[in-house]
Amino acid sequence: MSAAAGTTKKTIVTALPGDGIGPEVMAATMKILAAANAPIEWEMAEAGAEVFKKGIGTGVTREALDSIARNGLALKSPLETPVGFGGKSANVTLRKYFELYANIRPVRELPGVMAPFTGRGIDMVIVRENVEDVYAGIEHMQTPSVAQCLKLMTAPGCERIVRAAFGLAMAEDRNKVTCATKANIMKLTEGMMKRMFEKVGPDFPSIAQEHIIIDNCAHQLVIAPEQFDVIVTSNMNGDIISDLAAGLVGGLGIAPSSNLGDHVAMFEAVHGSAPQIAGKGLANPTALLSAAIMLLRYIGAFTAAEEIEQGLFITLAEGKNLTGDLSPRGHGVGTDAFTDQVIANLGRSSNLASRDYKKFELLAWPELTAHVEPDRRALVGIDVFLESELGADELGKALAAIAEDTPFRLNGVSNRGVQVYPSTGGQTFLVDHFACRFMFKTPIDLNASLATGQPEISYLVQRIGAKFTWMHIEKLQSFDGKDAFERPQGEG
Ligand code: NAD
Repeated sequence: MSAAAGTTKKTIVTALPGDGIGPEVMAATMKILAAANAPIEWEMAEAGAEVFKKGIGTGVTREALDSIARNGLALKSPLETPVGFGGKSANVTLRKYFELYANIRPVRELPGVMAPFTGRGIDMVIVRENVEDVYAGIEHMQTPSVAQCLKLMTAPGCERIVRAAFGLAMAEDRNKVTCATKANIMKLTEGMMKRMFEKVGPDFPSIAQEHIIIDNCAHQLVIAPEQFDVIVTSNMNGDIISDLAAGLVGGLGIAPSSNLGDHVAMFEAVHGSAPQIAGKGLANPTALLSAAIMLLRYIGAFTAAEEIEQGLFITLAEGKNLTGDLSPRGHGVGTDAFTDQVIANLGRSSNLASRDYKKFELLAWPELTAHVEPDRRALVGIDVFLESELGADELGKALAAIAEDTPFRLNGVSNRGVQVYPSTGGQTFLVDHFACRFMFKTPIDLNASLATGQPEISYLVQRIGAKFTWMHIEKLQSFDGKDAFERPQGEG
């Protein structure tokens, strides 16, 4: 008899069976949870390929969105991203719609699963920011041959993911949080994550804290992965290193994850819909089951979670009735036999103890537009991004002449982030996309005067536009006396 049985009130969770092997691993997971009397009641909903085929471009039905919004909890099987029809990825739709900003990817060596690093005692969690960074998807072609993607990182975005990482470390009784960034190169964006980590860290004095450059993090994950406990990082970095880390312990096929936001928590397997084996009863449900175990812990059903986890661990450790992906060739069983084996093992304990989890809740963030006003704000110039076939010297001289009778002076011209005018003597390959930096001869103190700099900017841009095709303009500001922009490589 399960320890979770009895009078426990059931929590309603939206279940999205998804595509390919999704319905099979969902059915297996539900069967195991039912056998353990896990306190969950399922509400079925639709997302993925079939929804796209109905012409719903988001890949998620209105009913599914409403169900998730109502319940605040979802267990999601893989959803196909259609190629050739449909629009966005349904996964991304869900992540963005519900602002699921924290992607939690535990990576733990599982008993009986042979992997390159078996025996090293890997047990870490990667906490990846899930909605900002270059994955915000703000992209523009600047010229027919120059593409641009905006890397947008925000102070609240960094703060909430860093706090999520520390909160998770506390809930899971972990000792260390490592912040992995590329702050040495991207001082404003990645640097913001590092600075926020240093600002928030003192609130968690019992947890060891370190910063590591992301490329060294990748290196260290391979050299000495057991050193890591919790890693917090930005979206793209986290995407890459969480797959790398999963590979250390047996691959994506067994990796679970959660996507947490202020109002909704969605749990899923990391793998895709495995169309090659769909419908054949061969899929391994371990990843989705592990995601369901995370869900149980999230709602505080620790006893059921531990019972199922131990049943899974001992099944894997004993190696009897494992699916093909975890067995020597020709010895694998189907999804049903594996599922029944886990059920038969409920109530037994493995040699690998479950962690002593405590309830983990994200901080509640206020519902308002995040805004911080600096004490002092000044407008010091503009960058004008334009298209030109001219050489750097010719372009620089033409722009300097344009600026002559304006409140600006041309500071320099750069190409792909390297100053090319005035020349520094470097050997930069030029493309037809230049960033032209104009500084106000007298910076505008926006606190002290009513001046906005707007007419001056319009005048200059109009003059530039008469001769060149410009794409966009960036204001150069200073906040509290500090430049709020970076300098191109080579600028003196
Ligand atoms: P995949 O994860 O579906 O398959 C990769 C390999 O792993 C295949 O050989 C597959 O057979 C195997 N595999 C995956 N899960 C397995 C399981 N549970 N048991 C046994 N073997 C398993 O990756 P893919 O082929 O790149 O993607 C297929 C589809 O899934 C695509 O449409 C993709 O967009 C989608 N996808 C969805 C998600 C998601 O919903 N979160 C994630 C990744 C891919």
